[in-house]
Amino acid sequence: MSAKPRIAVVGAGLGGVTAAILLQQAGHDVVIYEQAPRLARIGAGIGLGPNVGRVMKHIGVFDRMFDIGIVIETSYSRVWDTGEILLNRAEYDLASRFGLPALRMHRGDMLSVLASRLQPGTIVFNKQLIDIGHRLGGTQLLFADQHEVEADIVIGADGVNSKVREILLGVEPPIYTGFVAFRSIYP
Ligand SMILES: Cc1cc2nc3c(=O)[nH]c(=O)nc-3n(C[C@H](O)[C@H](O)[C@H](O)COP(=O)(O)OP(=O)(O)OC[C@H]3O[C@@H](n4cnc5c(N)ncnc54)[C@H](O)[C@@H]3O)c2cc1C
Repeated sequence: MSAKPRIAVVGAGLGGVTAAILLQQAGHDVVIYEQAPRLARIGAGIGLGPNVGRVMKHIGVFDRMFDIGIVIETSYSRVWDTGEILLNRAEYDLASRFGLPALRMHRGDMLSVLASRLQPGTIVFNKQLIDIGHRLGGTQLLFADQHEVEADIVIGADGVNSKVREILLGVEPPIYTGFVAFRSIYP
């Protein structure tokens, strides 16, 4: 390992970008490899509980997220055809209990606020990880474009279909929990 470990994060989603910011704030060298060509405003609403809010405060982006997000007071889950309320979750007292409110915002906006805290050039786009190898002196990451890079530490933040996890642990079929969630989006 070189004097300062070279840290490679695979995936520039919310997890990978947050991990990279925290590592950079601690003085580490980090590169994120992301398969997409750019960060796009994909997705819809995403929630931040007070626990995540604390991490965002530490990073220095909570105030910006507070500005662009909305504070939720109550959320309902209803049966799709009758409207019957299955769950009525009061969230208005979260701020008094935990010191920060629960926020909702567009996932793409949350990601771009986070990405603005990365050192310039941290994310390398169009890098789809296909394999990880080990040779003396480090770990090699191989990408679909046949480009290879070496790192001392690899962080798999490549989401629910993680290639890093598959390489380390083999193929793990998803386990159905019995829960299904879907949503409607209104302008
Ligand atoms: C496009 C998208 C939209 C979403 N929209 C919502 C939403 O609207 N509301 C909500 O509540 N949740 C949404 N989610 C889910 C939520 O963002 C995630 O559950 C949560 O952020 C988990 O974060 P993560 O960083 O672990 O993984 P993710 O956010 O899934 O990010 C993983 C990243 O890794 C990249 N990646 C995957 N495989 C490779 C590979 N082999 N090589 C390189 N890069 C790779 C992906 O392109 C992605 O950018 C969305 C996720 C995605 C990917």
